Amino acid sequence: MKLSESDLQRLKSILMKLKTDLLIAGETGQQAEEVVELDQARVGRLSRMDAMQAQAMSQETGRRRRQHIVEIDAALDRIRAGDYGDCFECGEFIHPGRLTADPAATLCIGCAEALE
Ligand SMILES: [Zn+2]
Repeated sequence: MKLSESDLQRLKSILMKLKTDLLIAGETGQQAEEVVELDQARVGRLSRMDAMQAQAMSQETGRRRRQHIVEIDAALDRIRAGDYGDCFECGEFIHPGRLTADPAATLCIGCAEALE
């Protein structure tokens, strides 16, 4: 099922919105990732472990967020290039419903399930 021009425009605006949200979330997340180093000298051992755990979590969140932005940019590039919506594995069209749920998807549902 090939995507119509209006589908493409709609998915493109979803991608741009997602990217903006991630960039905004990134600004607050960045601070959480840096917290431990600043406080290290004056917090006790236990609370330091808590802080390090919290830092590790926000670093992981940050890593996923940056990865997601890369995927979104790649999807926007494919829209520009005109090969958006093709499955990376089998080359078939990815179902529009699946793209609406995850506009950065690179695999059709069949190939994605086969990988799991
Ligand atoms: Zn496929």
